[in-house]
Amino acid sequence: MKYIFVTGGVVSSLGKGLAAASIGTLLERCGLKVTLQKFDPYLNVDPGTMSPFQHGEVYVLNDGAETDLDLGHYERFVHCSLSRLNNLTSGQVFESVLRKERRGDYLGKTVQYIPHVTDEIKNRLYEVTEKSDVDIIITEIGGTVGDMEGHIFLEALRQFALEVGRDNVCFIHVTLLPYIKAAGEMKTKPTQQSVAKLREIGIQPDVIICRTEYDMSEDERRKIAMFCNVEAKNVIAFRDVKNTIYECPLDLSQDKIDRIVTRRLGLDVPAPNLADWQRYVGRVISPSHSIRIAVVGKYIALQDAYKSIYESFTHAGAENDARVEILRIDAEEIEEKGAEAMIGSVDGILVPGGFGDRGIEGKIQTVEYARTKGIPFLGICLGMQVAVIEYARHICGMDDANSTEFDQKTTHPVISLQEEQKGIQAMGATMRLGAYKALIRPGTLAHKLYGKDSVTERHRHRYEFNPAYRDELENAGLVISAVNDEHGLVEVVELPEHPFFIACQYHPEFQSAPNR
Ligand code: GLN
Repeated sequence: MKYIFVTGGVVSSLGKGLAAASIGTLLERCGLKVTLQKFDPYLNVDPGTMSPFQHGEVYVLNDGAETDLDLGHYERFVHCSLSRLNNLTSGQVFESVLRKERRGDYLGKTVQYIPHVTDEIKNRLYEVTEKSDVDIIITEIGGTVGDMEGHIFLEALRQFALEVGRDNVCFIHVTLLPYIKAAGEMKTKPTQQSVAKLREIGIQPDVIICRTEYDMSEDERRKIAMFCNVEAKNVIAFRDVKNTIYECPLDLSQDKIDRIVTRRLGLDVPAPNLADWQRYVGRVISPSHSIRIAVVGKYIALQDAYKSIYESFTHAGAENDARVEILRIDAEEIEEKGAEAMIGSVDGILVPGGFGDRGIEGKIQTVEYARTKGIPFLGICLGMQVAVIEYARHICGMDDANSTEFDQKTTHPVISLQEEQKGIQAMGATMRLGAYKALIRPGTLAHKLYGKDSVTERHRHRYEFNPAYRDELENAGLVISAVNDEHGLVEVVELPEHPFFIACQYHPEFQSAPNR
């Protein structure tokens, strides 16, 4: 097994995840089998309990793991199928070490950062090695080199490289070259200092990826090489991409990062065949028409909160030769100003998932607007729940219909907790999570869209369509077009007399990828 470790320096938000994913794309196109994982130094066991405002989207895997959104990039850029093993946090590391301590596994010993915590981290690397049928594991380390909380992970990697042989490991450090306008210069000092920090720990990076706004000169490249103790050709420029993140692999391939990495790891593989990826990027960049979709949600201010949905728009756009312009609308503003004023005329409306009652009435107004004006509508998760509430209120005359998440005393709990959810107190990893199979009713819009009788999609929710209201809503005209194959839980609803009105309890965006 060969290993690539991707660390970050100077500042966060450098696109380390995209860099890691893009290297994966290139190596896969050299004919190698690749998987990716992320180590996150925070103390949460997983990001599932963090607000999207803190952390961006929580990305869900097939096995139900709630993970960092970078895993979404991994699955979109590489044909890998990830599991909960692929996202390790400090929270998991310490939880496990402390459980072992209480059990007496270390009996007689003082439990210490080295070796007990570092062993725990290395064990994960060995476990993924054993369980993955791949040639290369790419591991991204969250945070910035120099952070106190990331230190122990870097120490573990240093030890690990020694154990598996330095020639099987490639360290890639992603840094920033800030441009100082007044001086008209790009500055290499932060990069030098962050590499110095890495070397202090005993890690000499093999490759340095420099995020820049402007082209890097040969002088700057040589300077970084000399101060950071790497060959000049191993200093890679990573310019801000112009149009789409799917350009990243093409950009990185210009400095031949795939050649450098594979040579470093002693792999003799052909140059990557990027023809399909280039074609894809071409389709993303220059479609023949454009459409406007309103996304009405709660976490609109934050670009990353609905990451997979926004990415899905890019995929769907490329598929349909369209640029998808996104109109981001805060559901709370709809409550103040009305749907007509805020949304106006658009080609489609999407209400995404969410938690908590803020903006709920605005989302219900949005559904009503889409339904009565015949505007194409897609509801996802909470978006389906509000669609059901809207239908119950305005078509079935259940004026106070609601979800018990927002109104415990409603006389019409059309969305409610499943029996098995009722006793649950703990918040972490207790929702209905991961892939479940849904059976699709023939003759419905859902069936037409999927073109098959069953589909497996990923879930992340606690509340469900209340089966007690099924008959009444169906009799009124709501069509239930997919149900869970084991429990019959409602998965998809639609309105046949509407041009395009469909809503699903699951998150189809998690499985959307370029050309897939
Ligand atoms: N808050 C809702 C629930 O828990 C919807 C969750 C979501 O949209 N992901 O069921």
